[in-house]
Amino acid sequence: MGSKSRQLHVFFFPFMAPGHMIPMLDMAKLFTTRGVKATIITTPLNVPTVAKMIERTKTRGNGVVKIDIQTIEFPAVEAGLPEGCETTDSRTTHEKMTTFIIALAMLRQPLEQLLQNHDHPHCIVVDMLFPWAIDAVAKFGIPVLVFNSTCVFSSSALVSMRQYEPQMEVSSDSEPFVIPNFPGEIKLTRKKLPTFTEKKYVEAFFSDFMKEVGESEVRSYGVVLNSFYELEPAYANHYEKVCGRKAWYIGPLSLCNKDAEDKDQRGKESSIDKYECLKWLNTKNINSVVYICFGSLSNFNNSQLMEIAMGLEASGQQFIWVVRKDKSEKEDEDWLPKGFEKRMEGKGLIIRGWAPQVLILDHEAVGGFVTHCGWNSTLEGVAAGLPMVTWPMFAEQFLNEKLVTEVLMIGVPVGAQQCVEMSGNDNPIKKEAIEKAVRHLMEGEDAKEMRSRAKELGEMARRAIEEGGSSYSDLNALIEELKALDS
Ligand code: UDP
Repeated sequence: MGSKSRQLHVFFFPFMAPGHMIPMLDMAKLFTTRGVKATIITTPLNVPTVAKMIERTKTRGNGVVKIDIQTIEFPAVEAGLPEGCETTDSRTTHEKMTTFIIALAMLRQPLEQLLQNHDHPHCIVVDMLFPWAIDAVAKFGIPVLVFNSTCVFSSSALVSMRQYEPQMEVSSDSEPFVIPNFPGEIKLTRKKLPTFTEKKYVEAFFSDFMKEVGESEVRSYGVVLNSFYELEPAYANHYEKVCGRKAWYIGPLSLCNKDAEDKDQRGKESSIDKYECLKWLNTKNINSVVYICFGSLSNFNNSQLMEIAMGLEASGQQFIWVVRKDKSEKEDEDWLPKGFEKRMEGKGLIIRGWAPQVLILDHEAVGGFVTHCGWNSTLEGVAAGLPMVTWPMFAEQFLNEKLVTEVLMIGVPVGAQQCVEMSGNDNPIKKEAIEKAVRHLMEGEDAKEMRSRAKELGEMARRAIEEGGSSYSDLNALIEELKALDS
């Protein structure tokens, strides 16, 4: 029934965790700015979060098309999860995360039902963690794009490691190996491997599952990434030519949020009023504040928080530090040294809960970012032109650290040596290492050089999304291709 005049309609089906949901909703917003109709597929309990994040697109007008939501039921209890468990966050344990990801395959039938009853869109963008969706959607003849939620550097490093298994050739967990058939001499150790690439380290499930994820990319119509070509060109070329993926680089997606209101609306409800936060930052000099945040999933134990507090104080830097403790846990303050908050008054701001991260990173007073190297945070740091202290914890974060410190040369490693649970481990990174890394980030010649390289990358990022830029053009090319499929 294809007609050239039919408005392009794309479904977006995000994995239910902030680190996947936020960029995919930004992507949907971006598509609508090009006149594409967008529909988000999610489960009932995630509707309020999605609705909050897209609320402003409803009132904005000026050519922006509105975004719809369609729900599918998630049989959580049947899948062995507690009732009402439809998302993952900092309270999700490693174990529960595994059960959750397995359980998601139960969304296949409700998804097929939805497609059965709905006018077919031109395309569906599915999260990489839904590899089963490729076949489910293929039945309906709808092209599927996979949203790979990390950078192309790490995605293709994982392809190489799965193919050549260099991790099996070394004799100990701490003996370095080079990632084979991969641009640059990138060295890793088994200890830093994402737990899912080595069966010995976790349940076979993650290993087999991630293999399935890789294969689904090859079988899909193509892969969309939240990155921009100029950031990692050697790896983008490698991903297409050697790994055989068809890919579009359309990021940084966070840059589609132009004003303070948009930036504040990403993700959960902020635990601090945005004006209060901006007022605090406005009193500070340019590049004088370090922002510390470890994403949406990690939840450090008290001993690690204590080391961070002492390290920050010893560094003498001003800071905003995001801690996953809500106010109700206030009685349990033995994660802070005695009198810490009093001594830090005016110098350090602790946000307990959720921070308006992009709003903070984009403020001129912020001069450095201590990050767990989750890809969204990393790219948000790049887009804001910031050098970073890299503190990877799990998943592919140790690979992202390599990109930041060895390829882009805008980062100082804190010295994390081993993949850990989301809550950290019993062997915390010590205050001395934290102080040293933060000083290195903010003081001295090296800091200046890193900052100037980071600023350049930040400008490149902004150019990429402007008319004529690489990400702008890649999105246009994708939209044109999808339209042509319909004609
Ligand atoms: N984020 C935020 N405020 C917070 C914590 C996280 O806005 O207090 C956002 C952050 O900007 C990023 C996402 O949540 O967009 C986290 O994704 P990332 O890939 O960095 O890490 P993950 O949470 O998946 O480990």
